[in-house]
Amino acid sequence: MPIKVLDPKLVSRIAAGEVVERPASVVKELVENSLDAGASQISIEARGGGVSLIRVVDNGAGIPSGEVELAFDRYATSKVEGLDDLDSISTLGFRGEALPSIAAVAEVDIVTCAARETTGAHLSLRDGRVVGRESEGRSQGTTVTVRNLFRRVPARLKFLKSPATENSHIANIVTRYAFAFPEVKFVLLIDGRGALSTPGSGRLIDSIIEVYGSEVARNMLEIERGRWEGRAATSSLLVMGMVGSPAIGRASRDYLNLFVNHRWINSRLLAWAVEEAYHGLLMKGKHPVAVIDIILPPQEVDINIHPGKTEVKFQQERAIFSAVQKAVRQALIKLTPVPQVEEVAIAYEAPSLLKQGFEMPIGGDSGITPAPTVAAQTTTATLPVLRVLGQISASYIIAEGPDGLYLIDQHAAHERVLFEQIVGQRSRQEIEVQGLLEPATFEVSPQQEQVLRARYKDLAGFGFSIEPFGEKTFLVRSVPALLSNKDWAGMVRGLLDSGGNEDDWMEKVAVSMACHSAVRAGQILTEDEMRELVRKLEQASLPHTCPHGRPTMIHLSLGQLRSEFGRR
Ligand code: ADP
Ligand code: MG
Repeated sequence: MPIKVLDPKLVSRIAAGEVVERPASVVKELVENSLDAGASQISIEARGGGVSLIRVVDNGAGIPSGEVELAFDRYATSKVEGLDDLDSISTLGFRGEALPSIAAVAEVDIVTCAARETTGAHLSLRDGRVVGRESEGRSQGTTVTVRNLFRRVPARLKFLKSPATENSHIANIVTRYAFAFPEVKFVLLIDGRGALSTPGSGRLIDSIIEVYGSEVARNMLEIERGRWEGRAATSSLLVMGMVGSPAIGRASRDYLNLFVNHRWINSRLLAWAVEEAYHGLLMKGKHPVAVIDIILPPQEVDINIHPGKTEVKFQQERAIFSAVQKAVRQALIKLTPVPQVEEVAIAYEAPSLLKQGFEMPIGGDSGITPAPTVAAQTTTATLPVLRVLGQISASYIIAEGPDGLYLIDQHAAHERVLFEQIVGQRSRQEIEVQGLLEPATFEVSPQQEQVLRARYKDLAGFGFSIEPFGEKTFLVRSVPALLSNKDWAGMVRGLLDSGGNEDDWMEKVAVSMACHSAVRAGQILTEDEMRELVRKLEQASLPHTCPHGRPTMIHLSLGQLRSEFGRR
């Protein structure tokens, strides 16, 4: 279809809005264009968090030389013609908004050559206006270069996060498309370094190996290629992809990748359907790794409800929910491991928490705190000397003080003690370090890599000797002694997933270390251990809350006891 400006009537039906929010949105729009152009190879380059430069090179259909200018007109598209087309969109783009929106906030150069044309066209735009056009040799395909994004929009520029964070958003977007289009070869270069390179083999597992590493890939289960019709479905619906075995549950929801007709989408409904399928299989606080693509007739899904095109509305919502849930559950129950993945030696073994038969303590991210029925009454900061009386439910220590009874949450209390210890030792550079017998390799996803590259030196201060070791792999030589027999790898992953930008990063590391090394709920403690913990809590500077802000104890004063028993 030639590029044409959409009829105003049609424009009014399109969910218009700001499509360029941050550098990753530019990458998203350009990659979508390359995919719509049928490219089998797409290279993406970003510099300076995508602000200095974003370049996307594809070998797709190219734009006919007579239509290049038109492509930069608002609402000019080759993908939609009439109103009817809006109801069955099969391309990723359809609004004709991306190129003009990008050109309005950056310096854009496009070099493109369509099939059967002998030479390519090079168009330069500044402030949304064409400032140069020449012919330039190029094989079939398109190269779009975007420089100095938001230079003239300081308000936007100010709103951006650190280059490391923007890079991780970019890697995230490219990763999603690498999952949705395993037949396309994606190469991502960030500041000149290879961040991702997929083979374009057409096998999803190859993209998963690239992104999440072979350890995760070995634990992925294929969703059986059946048709998962729900009872209410009017037409066929295909659920395909791979799901991680419960053993590789993750502390964040970022590993859940959902697509509809190869379009990456945000859907709380479907995320819930997937989590439901894992019900009883994953530990509390853990989330699945999954890459799921739902294929259905385009008429049955509306993608035209949000400018970012990541929100969708299904006609048969319930049928889709149940189809996804059933498909995932079926794959999990069969637990058929994927045979094609080679075995690779893993240098470390994360302890299987599932085997230990108890729930994880409340993690920093889950935020589920049962409200104490009796509020902590103490107003003074320090604790009096306490006498330990015993333990209940292998989780709480009962102690007596000069003014009544104390119920202490052993995990929260230990977290507080360890947190203060870690912060103090770090500032004195006294963190005790445990060298690993053999350096362990630590594989990270492209997003995690961006954060780790920016942060590994900070982690050294906490006792982690981690250094870059080839693409998406780091070498770990030592870990904090506190964590030496704990799941330090899971802890670092959780930290990386939470992003690297926050000003409170150092505190986050200390909190996370404390949480991972503290005694858990469900652990029986000896009397000596309890006394030792309570003694240390007495010396803590903020003994009443754990570093997540939850109470470490409940105090029932003698006055309260008297009044509860009706003595006064
Ligand atoms: P949309 O993708 O919604 O149509 P865009 O502004 O992103 O709008 O692009 C406008 C038009 O330019 C597209 O419809 C397409 O015809 C053409 N185009 C953009 N990028 C490419 C590309 N990489 N390869 C081929 N054609 C492209
Ligand atoms: Mg587009």
